[in-house]
Amino acid sequence: MKRDRLRSSGSRTARNRMCLDFANLPFAPGDTVRRAVSWPELVNFLAEKRIVSAERGGELDRLPETEPAAANNLLLMSERLGDGLRFASRALIRGSRVHREWIEPINEILRVTEGHDELEWDGGAWRMRFAAKLQGLEWLLAAVARSAAELIAAGAKSGVRQCANPNCQLLFCDDSRTHRRRWCSMALCGNRSKVAAFARRHGGGSERTKAQHA
Ligand SMILES: [Zn+2]
Repeated sequence: MKRDRLRSSGSRTARNRMCLDFANLPFAPGDTVRRAVSWPELVNFLAEKRIVSAERGGELDRLPETEPAAANNLLLMSERLGDGLRFASRALIRGSRVHREWIEPINEILRVTEGHDELEWDGGAWRMRFAAKLQGLEWLLAAVARSAAELIAAGAKSGVRQCANPNCQLLFCDDSRTHRRRWCSMALCGNRSKVAAFARRHGGGSERTKAQHA
C-alpha cells in the first residue's frame, strides 16, 4: 500500500496533516471497510513520522511479547482515536456538528501526555520532538492527538476533505492553490474515475462511478 508522502509530518502547525495520515491508516485508496491496524503498522507509522527513533521503534516491535497488555491497550486507544478523528473530520466536511464523544479519545490522550517539545539532532537536521514527563505509552499518540485537536479547532478552515471516489474513505487537507483537489491520489482514485468515465462514454460503462464527474 502506498500513501502520499506529506511534507508537514513532524511539525505542529495548524495545517498539520499527521492526524489525517493516522486516520487513513486502516484504509487503502478505494477501500470501504476499515481493517484493524496491526502493532507493526502502528510502530511503522510512529517511526515514519519521527515520533520515535529507529532504535526506539526496534524496541517497540518487541513489546507485544514483553508487555502484551500495554501494547494491546495502545492499539485500542489508537483505534478509538482514529475513529473519533474520522467521524469529526467527516462532520467538518459536511458542516455538521462535531460530537463530544468523538473528541473524548483526543482529549483523553492530551490529558495524560504531559511534557514539552525539544529540539533533537537526528543526524541530518534539528527536529522538534515531544519529550514526555511520564513513561506510559500514551505519549506515543500525543503528537497525533495534538494534530487532531488543531485540525478540529480550525474547523472548516482546516481544508479537510474526503476523496471524491464514493468508495474511498481517505481524508486529506486540500492545500492546493486552487482548493479543488478531489482525490486522495490522482494516480489511484483519480485515474480509476477517469478510466470509468472513458468506458461510460464508449459504451462499456460501469454504473458504480456514475456519481462522479470526469
Ligand atoms: Zn481515494
